[in-house]
Amino acid sequence: MIYLLCGILSGSVLGAICIPLFRKEETLESAIIEETEWDLLQRKKEVILGNIQDLDFEYKCGKLSQEDYQKIRGEMGAEAAVIFQDIENLESTADLDALLRREISARKSKPKTAGRTSQCSACGVANPATNKFCAECGAKLKH
Ligand SMILES: [Zn+2]
Repeated sequence: MIYLLCGILSGSVLGAICIPLFRKEETLESAIIEETEWDLLQRKKEVILGNIQDLDFEYKCGKLSQEDYQKIRGEMGAEAAVIFQDIENLESTADLDALLRREISARKSKPKTAGRTSQCSACGVANPATNKFCAECGAKLKH
């Protein structure tokens, strides 16, 4: 029973802390195509957050003395702070530009006319907007 309670407690507390972080990550992640230093930092962040989660859980379940908990928690907190700072630095400097450039080039590589069609006025068949003549009947397409 006490374990269940601990699980619910640490789960909900960490969930509240982590959900905004994960949300931010998702939006930024969609902009990433290549492996970057930023990815590496994100992974480090996940690891350290996971470690803190485990530590909090063990402490709440009484497996750690308060002294040990505070000591380890302090070290992990300092480590996490460094990673957060690194991520912030990356996002506020050139690397964000790099992310944006990748996002833009990914958009450019998609055909602009994708999904657009011109309907043939003679036979009614939908042709790709890039076609000058109907693929079905050969009539000239109006754009
Ligand atoms: Zn046609």
